[in-house]
Amino acid sequence: MRKKIIFLSIFLLLAVLFILLTAKDLDESYFRAERERMVRYQLKARDITDPKVLKAMLKVPRHLFVLPEYKREAYRDYPLPIDEGQTISQPYIVALMTQCLKLKPGDKVLEIGTGSGYQAAVLAEITDKVFSIEIRSGLAKKAAETLKKLGYKNVKVKWGDGYFGWPEYAPFDAIIVTCAANHIPPPLIKQLAEGGRLVIPLGSTLYYQTLTLVTKKKGKLKIKYIMGVRFVPMVGEITKRKK
Ligand code: SAH
Repeated sequence: MRKKIIFLSIFLLLAVLFILLTAKDLDESYFRAERERMVRYQLKARDITDPKVLKAMLKVPRHLFVLPEYKREAYRDYPLPIDEGQTISQPYIVALMTQCLKLKPGDKVLEIGTGSGYQAAVLAEITDKVFSIEIRSGLAKKAAETLKKLGYKNVKVKWGDGYFGWPEYAPFDAIIVTCAANHIPPPLIKQLAEGGRLVIPLGSTLYYQTLTLVTKKKGKLKIKYIMGVRFVPMVGEITKRKK
């Protein structure tokens, strides 16, 4: 009788263990399939063609950057809330902005507005020199932790006002601003390398902005408007300056 009970308990324990292990696996394969669908229907079906960008978007586990209650919605075609009233951009916008930067391995890139750290991870899949600044200390800390946990050792996160850029590491081959600004912060233009690309949502910080691509050629700026977008506002120094 005792033998039977011991045998049964061991069997039950093993069964529970098996279910737990395969459930986690199922979870991962579910998210992988979600990612594949996202790349096919939201990115390739639109105008994302850069293979490096598509590969990065296919790889980064976006569901680990969103709040737990939004995990199942992580790969849908819209932005999601993160902590402190901020948002993680829609996957298509992340891909489009990354594609605009025309990144090559070895390029040095600066992001203003780390948020969840997702965009930084996408950049880090393409180049190993990623610098990201976040003005909200809670978000900066959490994003740095998430990135570290996922093994992104090539991303440096700093808590501070991105308006001033990161002069210690300038010049940057690419700069990406992921919060809305009514003008391009002059320090960012200064820190952009010759031939560098800067992408920024420009316009009213309350309503809509125009995603704008700026290229520095022979010291001059070439401006290209990409599309209408909506981002959370840049705060800090920018609010004290006139346009
Ligand atoms: N790229 C992020 C989403 C950005 S949301 C992601 O992938 O999740 C915009 C972020 O910009 C917010 O986290 C906000 O706190 C931050 N931000 C606003 N003003 C800033 C400033 N002056 N410097 C740095 N970050 C700023």
